[in-house]
Amino acid sequence: METRNLGNTGIQISAISLGGVAFTWLGKKSSQQLIDFCVESGINYFDVYAGTHEKIRNSLKKYRDNIIISTRGTPKTIDQYLQFFEIDYFDIFLLSMVDSNQQLKQAIEDAEKLEKFRKQGKFKILGIATHNPCLYLDILQCGAFQVMMLPLNCVDEIQQEIFQKAKDKGIGIIAMKPMAGGNIREYESAIKYVLDKDVSTALIGMAKITEVRQNLRVLQNLEITEKDISVYKKIRKKLGKVFCRYCGHCIFPEPCPNEIPVRTIMMLETLAFQANLRRTVSEKVLKSIEKCSRCGMCETRCPYKLPIRKLLPEKVKMYLKMTR
Ligand code: SF4
Ligand code: SF4
Repeated sequence: METRNLGNTGIQISAISLGGVAFTWLGKKSSQQLIDFCVESGINYFDVYAGTHEKIRNSLKKYRDNIIISTRGTPKTIDQYLQFFEIDYFDIFLLSMVDSNQQLKQAIEDAEKLEKFRKQGKFKILGIATHNPCLYLDILQCGAFQVMMLPLNCVDEIQQEIFQKAKDKGIGIIAMKPMAGGNIREYESAIKYVLDKDVSTALIGMAKITEVRQNLRVLQNLEITEKDISVYKKIRKKLGKVFCRYCGHCIFPEPCPNEIPVRTIMMLETLAFQANLRRTVSEKVLKSIEKCSRCGMCETRCPYKLPIRKLLPEKVKMYLKMTR
């Protein structure tokens, strides 16, 4: 397994790593099998969410000394999350959902508050996760974070200047959404695209062992070919800019007032593929869109300005057509 420097942290991180979103769908046994397979294959970095801890904490504890664990939280949640996972420290603690200047200001204040937890040994590296390219330079320059997690794929491109600045500052780049949140199916070209850049790792939300195996095979030859370049062109044309990256801003910090699980609805196509086109999403969830009062709150929060109100019924219709 290829490993790379995580900025100047001294950590060697696997070029492909596991994003924890899949643990929200998988059962306990499948989650544990997935972690076992990843570790056996040389993947050493796991980004995990509180809420999935009961399924995965035993596996994480089993490999604790040999893996890098990150999670997202706030100064108020770090102790609770350590208890959830029954571990003494996180390797990387991420402040996430930082997508506006105001949120960045808050994150910098939180970074100061978190310093005492770092001194107590509760985490080693402070990171930040953002979806807003307008903040990248400010984050790199503010000096509060050693790691920046950002979406990177052939649609969400990033200027070379950002990678250079991160390198100069010794800040590790963790590339999330290499498959644009499941919207890109050409995994081989997608992984090559990300790992061709100056990133520490491609964080991929893999749910199946076969998926891990196929993605790892790509590492054998990362050279970008003419065929890959034409794949990127096709993807850009097909997706445009109007697609959901599953960032969750539409339901965070407040959920939809009418209890519509907006992000889940937006993810229906990906969920259908993950379940081999079996219908796993309940009728209650699918029907929840009927409660939409069209208040528009979700749209004002979406960093990609998606027309969510228009998209929700289209997503459900497509899901019903795709699945059985
Ligand atoms: S609809 Fe927008 S805010 Fe909601 S998950 Fe998708 S991209 Fe994020
Ligand atoms: S527009 Fe509909 S889905 Fe969006 S927050 Fe309002 S009620 Fe919920």
